[in-house]
Amino acid sequence: MSNAEILEYAIPHEAGHVVVSKAFNIPVQHIGFRLKNGLGTPIASIWQPDDHELNDITDKQRDEYCCGLAGGIAGELFALRCYDPSNDEPQTVDRVLLARLTIRDILEFVPAAKHTIHHHRRVFRQLCSKMKLRYPDVRREIETSNNDGVFMLVTSEELDQLWCN
Ligand SMILES: [Zn+2]
Repeated sequence: MSNAEILEYAIPHEAGHVVVSKAFNIPVQHIGFRLKNGLGTPIASIWQPDDHELNDITDKQRDEYCCGLAGGIAGELFALRCYDPSNDEPQTVDRVLLARLTIRDILEFVPAAKHTIHHHRRVFRQLCSKMKLRYPDVRREIETSNNDGVFMLVTSEELDQLWCN
């Protein structure tokens, strides 16, 4: 996949994680752009319970974390009506994190996540636009630095502002 193709799916994917998580008051730090071996993808930094915290969370909270993880696939479906089939591979980050929380499949949480995105569709669309708009600048930053790493795409302050508008 080219960078452009990756972005087409990755932007609504990360926006989906962020919007669903924020809807359930799960802390979101920022959206960054991670560059590795010349290929870059947006990544959202979202709070996850530690192993020792898993016993203390309620069933409702557990379902909300699962929805947040399903928010990526739901975001792709909401924006593009289909999702990147690599989401079905068992070792995706989202599936690995979800397996800590439940034995259910990630796709079982997608309808609720999609419903949540629909409810917050204005923020979702604004977030996707912001990421697309920022991308060329970040790309230039990456090209001049020549180093792998994480580059800021949307800060936590900007996410809060979008959310409160
Ligand atoms: Zn994801």
